[in-house]
Amino acid sequence: MQDLKSLSLSEFQNELAQLGEPAFRAEQVMEWAYRGVLNFSDMTNLPKTLRQKLSENFFISHLVPSFVSGSEEIEHAQTVKFLFLLDDGKEIETVLIPDFKSESQKRLTVCVSSQVGCAMACKFCATGYMGFTRNLTVGEIVGQVEVAAKWAETHWNQRITNLVFMGMGEPMLNYERVMESAYILTSHRYPFQIGERHITLSTVGIVSGIYRLAESEPKINLAISLHSAIEEKRRDFMPVAYQFSLQELREALIAYYARKKREIFIEYLLLNGINDGEEDAKALVKFARSVPSKINLIDYNPIANIDYQRTSDARKEKFRAILHEAGLFASVRRSRGKDIDAACGQLATRSVSSKRIQPLVQTTK
Ligand code: SF4
Repeated sequence: MQDLKSLSLSEFQNELAQLGEPAFRAEQVMEWAYRGVLNFSDMTNLPKTLRQKLSENFFISHLVPSFVSGSEEIEHAQTVKFLFLLDDGKEIETVLIPDFKSESQKRLTVCVSSQVGCAMACKFCATGYMGFTRNLTVGEIVGQVEVAAKWAETHWNQRITNLVFMGMGEPMLNYERVMESAYILTSHRYPFQIGERHITLSTVGIVSGIYRLAESEPKINLAISLHSAIEEKRRDFMPVAYQFSLQELREALIAYYARKKREIFIEYLLLNGINDGEEDAKALVKFARSVPSKINLIDYNPIANIDYQRTSDARKEKFRAILHEAGLFASVRRSRGKDIDAACGQLATRSVSSKRIQPLVQTTK
């Protein structure tokens, strides 16, 4: 028996072909599965013979959080974290980030993981020290959104408006599954229907992936975790910079913009005394001017046993002022949600037993 949601659409089409069934049935079945139907017998628009074959060969998994922390009350809406224990005993984390300015301006972002662990080894990130374990399946990626959406609907009566692939892992290295998830999350055939413009894929700068994204559907946004526009410095804390130079990255971003006509988000984590000086700000200005972009400065939250500190407010303002003088606007993202445990805008897993978060709900899978 195979888990239907562990398969991509094309893999499932191949499986159906082996059972003598036409390819178009695959998406019909997937639609039911992602609408929360767990029994093939309930898929009433399918022939009985197909339902029988499906029951004999597949089952449908359903992601259940093993741990949730955060506030249920809308007036105290704050970051909510979900910990998921996967079938193979691995853990991933998902974060809901509310931004409820007013009744008419309610933004609810879900930050999802794309891999268990990460091979990129960024020195400021707890996930980077875990190493890479495996890619998530489409079902595991979409399942995170399913759970978060249901939680938000139940407790806050609020739909998810935005999604970022900014959790654990490098999404460009699980590209097909991430993009298939993005299709399911945006398509009118499925229940999520998040707008393409409200989905962002964040990468450390896998150049080949940026070129692919430029040609791909759905047209989701691109964010780059730049963190330094000085080559040697970037290499010092982001090993990926040895693989792809800033010049290659810049060229890929220019090509992406030429194709997609979408501004790129430049994520810049401020590390005290490391990348927050005058020459760093000037290098960032130079880099950012090469392509239409928006800069997000991010506060760092120190992580145990990792020797980086948060930049002081005074240094941050000085850094920001240099950008402003150069005509570049930079927003400052407060550390919260996904940043709390990973600092760079990427999640870190850690055991529930660490007691770093207080339980709101505990369930078993
Ligand atoms: S910052 Fe992102 S890409 Fe770098 S190690 Fe952490 S999860 Fe991986």
